[in-house]
Amino acid sequence: MQKKIAIIGGGIVGATAAYYLSKLPGTQRLEVTLFDSGVGQATKAAAGIISPWLSKRRNQRWYQLAKSGADLYPELIHDAQLGTEVYQQTGTIVTREEATDLETLFALAQERRQTAATMGDVSTLTAQEVQAKVPLLSKPQPGVFITGGARVDGDALVHALLDRASEKNLTVRQERVSLTPDGQVVTSMGPRHYDRVILAAGAWLKDLVAPLAVTADVRPQKGQLIELAVKDYELQENMPVVMPEGERDFIPFGHGKLIVGATHEDDGKFNLTPDATVTADLLGSAQRLMTGITANDISGVRVGTRAYSSDFAPFFGPVPEHELFLAASGLGSSGLTTGPQIGRLLAGSALYGGTPDWSEYELPLTTYLRSSAE
Ligand SMILES: Cc1cc2nc3c(=O)[nH]c(=O)nc-3n(C[C@H](O)[C@H](O)[C@H](O)COP(=O)(O)OP(=O)(O)OC[C@H]3O[C@@H](n4cnc5c(N)ncnc54)[C@H](O)[C@@H]3O)c2cc1C
Repeated sequence: MQKKIAIIGGGIVGATAAYYLSKLPGTQRLEVTLFDSGVGQATKAAAGIISPWLSKRRNQRWYQLAKSGADLYPELIHDAQLGTEVYQQTGTIVTREEATDLETLFALAQERRQTAATMGDVSTLTAQEVQAKVPLLSKPQPGVFITGGARVDGDALVHALLDRASEKNLTVRQERVSLTPDGQVVTSMGPRHYDRVILAAGAWLKDLVAPLAVTADVRPQKGQLIELAVKDYELQENMPVVMPEGERDFIPFGHGKLIVGATHEDDGKFNLTPDATVTADLLGSAQRLMTGITANDISGVRVGTRAYSSDFAPFFGPVPEHELFLAASGLGSSGLTTGPQIGRLLAGSALYGGTPDWSEYELPLTTYLRSSAE
């Protein structure tokens, strides 16, 4: 008999879960339906930096998860036969003004490299060497260069993964759904029962699980970035991502597209309206490192809603006392990095069952998902 699986949310977590549910051994017995409301998705708005290794976060579980997410990317992209317009290891440069800060950062990079092969080669670059790699910067700073750092187009990635899965066992429905207290999925065609349901609803998880009498520790945060149309350098497609000290990040894509961002606005919550003051602030960051950039060079503004938990850590797995459901949220500002690994693990759990031990990556789920009766 066919096993029916529903996925609610078509961001990076839902899309990778759907992809692996069409690829893993045993998936020919599955019928998968993904529901996505298409509103506010963080994945579509994201800047696209995949470079977790120099983060100062002390949370070791987060680091293991982010590192394994960065490791998974080359394999996922190769397996799904996606091109460099979606994902490319262009390298990342993290800059520091002071020589001692640069040395400290380089020492951290060397230490992390010992257990992170995906980082590739690690070196320090002078300001001139940074400019040679990223000629659009007219006022570069010296930095640490990591060849394995990457940039990804989140929107293109989820579309491609959903297309691949749709060739096998996936149906995508663009609609907002809800849950009944007894665990059915309320769709535009009425309530439906599924054998497993993956709740990949990002910042909206709290609302989604409320009918189950479950409280999710998730809050929304607005993020905004700008896209600039800059001169198309010959090496544009291979330019490293630059994370300048004290400024916004610079993410060059092909064909003269440069992303500058992003903001973290707790007050913004679910607000998706671009803020002109924020746009001016992002432009200011670009102007401090590049000459000749004006507001006329802004080709787009993107806004999305990130999900944060109280300890800023992502969480995922079977919902306590409601094991029909698997949930994920709280991916914060690094969810494009951790998301594919979370989606893959959830897909395996939905398919094979059992009680996976993910303590290497996260605290127990009861930390974030509690009965609202408590
Ligand atoms: C501006 C910005 C820049 C970022 N830059 C980076 C970066 O450079 N690197 C990085 O690693 N991460 C980055 N992130 C973070 C990353 O984008 C997110 O953490 C990640 O995309 C979250 O993925 P998700 O699948 O959990 O949620 P989302 O991508 O938000 O997807 C959730 C989906 O569920 C849908 N949904 C919710 N409720 C329902 C319902 N009831 N019915 C149907 N559909 C529903 C929503 O509409 C949405 O489409 C950035 C985020 C933002 C906003």
